[in-house]
Amino acid sequence: MFKTHLNTDVNKKRDVLVIPGMIKCGKIVIFYSLRQSTKVKNKPLSLDITKTLNIKRDIQSFIDHYKDKLNELFSERNDENELLMTRGLPPYILREIMECNPLSTFIPEDYDGRGAITSEALSMLEASSYQSLPLSLMMGINGALFLQPLANYGSEEAKSTIFKEFLRRKNMGGLMITEPDFGSDALRMQTGFKYHEDTKSYEIDGLKHWAGLTGWADYWLITARGYKNDEGELGRDIGFFIHDSSNGGIDVKEYYQNLGLYMLPYGKNKIDIEVPESHRLEPKTTGVTMMLDILHRSRLQFPGMSTGHLKRMMDEALDHCKTRIVGGMSLFNYDQVKERLAKLQSYFTISSAMSYFTSTNVPLNQNTSRMDVAANSIKSVVTDYMHEASQSLLQLVGAKGYRLDHIAGRAMVDSRPFQIFEGSNDILYQQISESILKMMRKSKETNLYNFLSDYSLTENSAEHFEETLNFDVDFKMAQRKLVQLGRALGRLVSMEMTIKLGESGFNSDMISNSLKVVKSEIESLFSTYSFAETPAIIEDYDDSSSWLKFVNQ
Ligand SMILES: Cc1cc2nc3c(=O)[nH]c(=O)nc-3n(C[C@H](O)[C@H](O)[C@H](O)COP(=O)(O)OP(=O)(O)OC[C@H]3O[C@@H](n4cnc5c(N)ncnc54)[C@H](O)[C@@H]3O)c2cc1C
Repeated sequence: MFKTHLNTDVNKKRDVLVIPGMIKCGKIVIFYSLRQSTKVKNKPLSLDITKTLNIKRDIQSFIDHYKDKLNELFSERNDENELLMTRGLPPYILREIMECNPLSTFIPEDYDGRGAITSEALSMLEASSYQSLPLSLMMGINGALFLQPLANYGSEEAKSTIFKEFLRRKNMGGLMITEPDFGSDALRMQTGFKYHEDTKSYEIDGLKHWAGLTGWADYWLITARGYKNDEGELGRDIGFFIHDSSNGGIDVKEYYQNLGLYMLPYGKNKIDIEVPESHRLEPKTTGVTMMLDILHRSRLQFPGMSTGHLKRMMDEALDHCKTRIVGGMSLFNYDQVKERLAKLQSYFTISSAMSYFTSTNVPLNQNTSRMDVAANSIKSVVTDYMHEASQSLLQLVGAKGYRLDHIAGRAMVDSRPFQIFEGSNDILYQQISESILKMMRKSKETNLYNFLSDYSLTENSAEHFEETLNFDVDFKMAQRKLVQLGRALGRLVSMEMTIKLGESGFNSDMISNSLKVVKSEIESLFSTYSFAETPAIIEDYDDSSSWLKFVNQ
């Protein structure tokens, strides 16, 4: 099947990247760069790009056209279950998707994009993830981790060439932060940069891994710390550098066998590159603040990816339960099944509320470096829901779903890393609590209800928990308590967003069901939080811990 696509549809003039580490079961997996040959790349591009690209449609017809194309490619011309259990993506599919210009939603109007309007980008991500979560992540990486940082912090020179390349030549870009020894504590990264006055360029070296689009992206944003001296000591601030892959210097040492997200290549990269001065992002204050802005904006836009995924989980579950007969009646009629379906609908509604929040509060030019509570709440809560919804669909579908060629099985492994990347949820929940406690300390308030009922992100939701929240917080609580509290606070923030969506005229039954679901979650999280006993770890657990010894024979 793969071969047929290649033989019939590949434009042979284009670069084809064969990734040696990814030859499996006799199939050659090919990641395909849509960039035309390097020679063509350097030719000047016509300025009237929008005419040929037809990206000036109104957003609804733009999204409808995109959805139709995805449906045609994933359902009509192919079987998505077969397609998505093979690593990579057939080149003609990627080419036809990119011809719809989904990434133009992230590009400002001055550079011939659709205007980088947040609601447009989120609608595109939602349409992508309804069809395929990895496809949406691919778009999200390009948009939130490359194009938006470029739009906000890139030099005029970098923006004017690179945006055009994305529009015309369907380029791809990713972000490398994580290193094998520094993941969650990324600020201690060991990749370093040095400026050379003679060449007006930066030399950057290090080792990065797990960057989405490894071996595939045409451009990379590479993060590094400046060398303080010749002894290799690194400074604290972080620099972001745009690297054109065609200049060489990124050596893929290994491709990973990622558990899910088969469409996307991951691996380990040795970095030894030179980047012109014009291709360093220019922070408004410090590099760390710029990094916070980039990461918070990205987290705030997770609902683009999650809403489509959650809608798909909900539709698949409804469809399955209505047609599956168990014990002589439709699965749909069992009370426990209804509970699961109601939760799926609530997750979709709450995720929609987050999309609404981000679309109405976070334009591209809004600095999000201080929006930590909103960003961390959205990212951690909605990714928990993504995985919970996938688990629930698999439970409802039963054994038939426990296959890579079934959406339920794939959804479970595809959604899992969303709880790990861009901030591990455990850490984000802790940070939500720490931010709230910091604000409480500053305002000299110790009572949680008094603070939350006056805080813009919880003022209405807190009203539903007057009794539960009516206690003085312990400012020195243990880390596990901070995480437990953060889980509850993140859901209070999500509930507030759902209340606001309700006020906008969104389906009131969906809103009221979602409020019931999230309220019960919050109550149970606070009851865990107030449970005083804390289990410890028994280090020498081997002592008397084999049950067989105690069986009386
Ligand atoms: C599918 C996927 C895609 C990714 N895409 C990218 C990408 O495009 N670009 C990129 O740069 N990186 C990417 N990453 C890397 C990702 O950002 C890191 O995996 C993440 O930051 C966690 O780092 P780590 O894996 O080294 O885990 P570690 O830092 O070792 O943490 C592992 C776990 O330890 C616990 N933990 C860690 N620190 C603490 C703490 N302080 N308190 C309590 N518990 C803690 C948490 O449970 C955490 O999940 C991706 C990862 C995956 C799986």
